[in-house]
Amino acid sequence: MSNSSVETREFQTEIRQLLDIVINSLYTEREIFLRELISNAADAMEKVRYLQLSGQEVKDRDLPLEISLETDDNAHTLTIIDAGIGMTKEELVENLGTIAHSGSKEFIKLLTQGDNKDLNLIGQFGVGFYAAFMAADKVELYTRSYQPDAQSYVWTSEGTGSYQIEEGPELARGTKIVLHLKENAYEFSSPEAIKRVIRQYSSFVPYPISVNGEKVNTVQALWTKNKSEITEEEYTEFYKFIANAYDEPLFRLHFSSDAPLSLNTLLFVPQENFEKFGFGRLEPGVSVYCKKVLIQEKSKEILPEWLRFVKGVVDSEELPLNISRETMQDSALIAKINRVVTGRFLKFLNEQAASEPEKYKGFWEKFGMFIKEGAATDFTHKQELVKLLRFESSAADKGELISLADYVGRMKEGQSAIYYVNGPTREAIEAGPYLEVFRKQDFEVIYTHEPVDDYILNMLGEFEGKKLVSADQADLDVGQGPEIEGAGLPAAEVEGLNAWVKEVLGEQVTEVRESKRLVDSPAIALSAYGTYSMQRVMQMTNRDLNAPAPSVLELNTAHSMIQKLNELRKLNDPFARTAAEQIFENARIAAGLIVDPREMVKRLNQILEKALG
Ligand code: ADP
Ligand code: MG
Repeated sequence: MSNSSVETREFQTEIRQLLDIVINSLYTEREIFLRELISNAADAMEKVRYLQLSGQEVKDRDLPLEISLETDDNAHTLTIIDAGIGMTKEELVENLGTIAHSGSKEFIKLLTQGDNKDLNLIGQFGVGFYAAFMAADKVELYTRSYQPDAQSYVWTSEGTGSYQIEEGPELARGTKIVLHLKENAYEFSSPEAIKRVIRQYSSFVPYPISVNGEKVNTVQALWTKNKSEITEEEYTEFYKFIANAYDEPLFRLHFSSDAPLSLNTLLFVPQENFEKFGFGRLEPGVSVYCKKVLIQEKSKEILPEWLRFVKGVVDSEELPLNISRETMQDSALIAKINRVVTGRFLKFLNEQAASEPEKYKGFWEKFGMFIKEGAATDFTHKQELVKLLRFESSAADKGELISLADYVGRMKEGQSAIYYVNGPTREAIEAGPYLEVFRKQDFEVIYTHEPVDDYILNMLGEFEGKKLVSADQADLDVGQGPEIEGAGLPAAEVEGLNAWVKEVLGEQVTEVRESKRLVDSPAIALSAYGTYSMQRVMQMTNRDLNAPAPSVLELNTAHSMIQKLNELRKLNDPFARTAAEQIFENARIAAGLIVDPREMVKRLNQILEKALG
């Protein structure tokens, strides 16, 4: 090996940022570096196992799949050896020099900006291989790919800006990592310390681990054990292992069944939802086993996509051991397991919601987006999913959430439907005109804030036999009662006023009519096509100021402003037209629609001019 073959390369910016955090800020529970390296070794061997199963040619076929650790107290080194798939030169550059996942990149950027370094979050996110630099000031990695004619390489770095790659001595398949420990991390060259850390963090690794030749783990399949024989700590450690997490799970469901399927299932809900942080779409987190043998890691088929936040294991004796990834997709048995486990998990969530409502609320705030996704897309489980939805409402205090069942349970006598209204915030909804008629009738109204809420409720149509009705529906019938009608203008006047306003507003309205739903507001704008919620979303995404969809305008003829407008228009005063246009514009603003500010400012100036005399 000549010196000229040594290649020095720069780390990608995001990795340099990550290394900076790892080395300078992330020192609590430093021993987790060992967990990361062991988990990488196990992953690499899992890949070998899979290649062999699928009949591919693999170098050193008979090499046992195990992880060996060696300590050297004098040289202050710790060495970790695996018989995994190893890496080619290209893979070394790709895997240890760059971060490909754009979500992770964004996340690191976010975390390293300014003062908002949330170290706890970084810890939970996991720094992977780079955790090695928590304990080592120099890392040498020898590796040889499983590919039969691959060359061995040595990768070296001191965790600063760059790393070196050179051709290495002939090796057996796999990877050997030599950590040159920092002075304050010498403890990790003691076999006792290493064994303790392995027992704590890696007891569920499904391959044998040895320290200086002595085997230290027993491969455990926790999910097949009896619940009463498992401690809380074991559950938590298992969760941390399979989820590659640093937190404690929020929920845990462990169940076994014989009928309709023989199943051993252990599922967890994590503490945090990284997808919500903008980390990118979560990968599924549940692995499939048959009698403790791993069939498929992080399976896409075993649970519906909207349950991708769940971590855990599903073990079924009925699965054929040699099932391939392709046949998983259209296996009727997998589909059946999926249905059973999903149903059981939703039942569990509903039970949790009933027994621990506060905790469920915490779950909802973080993971509600997945439940909504399910409710909007999964017809099979719709009934159970809908029960899990939570909403703000006019009858609930700010911050309190209700279910559809809560709503139905306290509906007023004579109230036939469940009402909901969409708006960006509670305050915006309550300031608008849409609630007036409901306040008058003392009917509760659900507040929705996202288009998906309205989509779900609209699709659902009814709940427990009660129709679901959007409060901004143009043909709303709340049984408004005659009192409001009585206070308005006489019928002949109303007719004239409506026709005149329609003439002033032209194409912008399809209809002008007297309102039966207003109390305090002079006018209300309603969608000419169904409800505004969807229109509002479309307008917002298109930023479309020029072609707003036409409205139905309802006038509150009991309101003094409307009555004065009626007088003024009879005098043929041109200011009446300006006022009518502004009343319409105000109603559209209250509907949350974007109006053209330039036109409006011009008009408001005219109005001010007049008001100031
Ligand atoms: P992650 O394990 O989440 O992918 P890491 O930072 O731990 O992230 O590792 C980055 C990548 O480096 C891995 O995805 C893998 O491709 C490669 N790698 C790390 N350690 C090993 C190893 N012991 N054997 C083979 N490949 C490895
Ligand atoms: Mg890793």
